[in-house]
Amino acid sequence: MRYEAVIGLEIHAQLRTKTKIFCGCSTEFGSEPNSQTCPVCIGMPGVLPVLNKRVVEFAIKTGLAMNCRISPYSRFARKNYFYPDLPKGYQISQYELPICEHGYVDIVVDGVKRRIGITRIHMEEDAGKNIHERDCSLVDLNRTGVPLLEIVTEPDIRSPKEASAFMRKLRTILRYLEVCDGNMEQGSLRCDANVSLRPEGSEEFGTKTEIKNINSFRFVEKALEYEIKRQEKVLSEGGTIVQETRLWDSERGVTFSMRSKEEAHDYRYFPEPDLVPLVVKEDWIEEIKSSMPELPDEKLKKYTEEFGLPQYDAELLTEERPIAEWFEEAVRLGGAPKEVSNWMMTELLRLLNENNIEIISCRVTPEHLVKIIKLIEEGKISRNIGKKVFADVFQTGKDPEEIVKEKGLVQISDTSELQRLVEEVLKNNPKEVERYRGGEQKLLGFFVGQVMKASKGKANPKAVNELLRKKLSS
Ligand SMILES: [Zn+2]
Repeated sequence: MRYEAVIGLEIHAQLRTKTKIFCGCSTEFGSEPNSQTCPVCIGMPGVLPVLNKRVVEFAIKTGLAMNCRISPYSRFARKNYFYPDLPKGYQISQYELPICEHGYVDIVVDGVKRRIGITRIHMEEDAGKNIHERDCSLVDLNRTGVPLLEIVTEPDIRSPKEASAFMRKLRTILRYLEVCDGNMEQGSLRCDANVSLRPEGSEEFGTKTEIKNINSFRFVEKALEYEIKRQEKVLSEGGTIVQETRLWDSERGVTFSMRSKEEAHDYRYFPEPDLVPLVVKEDWIEEIKSSMPELPDEKLKKYTEEFGLPQYDAELLTEERPIAEWFEEAVRLGGAPKEVSNWMMTELLRLLNENNIEIISCRVTPEHLVKIIKLIEEGKISRNIGKKVFADVFQTGKDPEEIVKEKGLVQISDTSELQRLVEEVLKNNPKEVERYRGGEQKLLGFFVGQVMKASKGKANPKAVNELLRKKLSS
């Protein structure tokens, strides 16, 4: 029997606020353990939480970007469980009335567009961190109370590839909005996956397992591939899937059973009595909406339809907002979109990658690139020299025109100078000249190469070509 995978994701995104969700403690990463705590976030008796307005703003932004309905009235709830990293014995979360519901995110996999439903987005506080030593366990509460968004998808995902495409898209959106840095390795974006199988064509859901601890984009795909194969084997041998929580072990490349899956009622959710219900007014939503940046999907549409870029270029350039903005600035300054895109995708992104530099700290500006393109178009430098100038600007931040002047890189189009070079090359290669005249026309390329070399790349290749043809046929 052939099976179809049904996958839903639960993503936790750590919000980039300066302070925690219910107190004024810093959220900065990597500080001395337990140095960023106060009676509120370590759960002392008698203290009261105060909601951080910025967290609500970030939640609304995210909801709008994911086409959700923003609830005018939502509520916090207590999720009760016992664990050493949870000092209060409950986590403040949202349950029955989350802030965002009924949204969607579109992804493209192998050229096919798929719409993934967003069930809900809610706000909650993070727990602390247990650190296990050889003979004891330590608890760091710096992370306790750091604001999180939990984003839950509908079971609309059908393959590991779609799951990882969704995660990438989600990360792109969160980074565009500047609400989360999207760093999976550092844990600011975490993903749990629910997966079940059903016979192809069937509408009913099979029993699902939940996979936790997936902490990189590569592992999203790998963990799901493994789990789907495992379930396939159990089912095809006539077994049944046990509903459970499984952990992904990235070193061994397997998932293994952690505990039987808890149900919502195990948590004894109830409305948080220390916080008033959250009422969001329409004008605030409108205000947030008008402050939002252009999102990747809108940019993608603009790049392909208005700028005429191929889908591939458009996808690459819109993945990160600073790259997209760099591109748009160059086009605004008069660079032809496809030309700018070519330079960015070949030279710029390669150099950034090789030097491990982010585009925001890069020395080449859109203005520099437009100048280089112009120098080439005007025939002042060749394309090859242009690439060298680009690399030079990348290192020094100097003006391209200055570099060209300083280093004497201006293209030689002066005929007498070129004539001299051509004659020299022909004189130095008499055998090749004879062969060419004997019919080996393809040697022309060899001569062009020699002249370019003799001019240190500065000769105008078109003029060299013409001169050579003339000389060789005379
Ligand atoms: Zn605190």
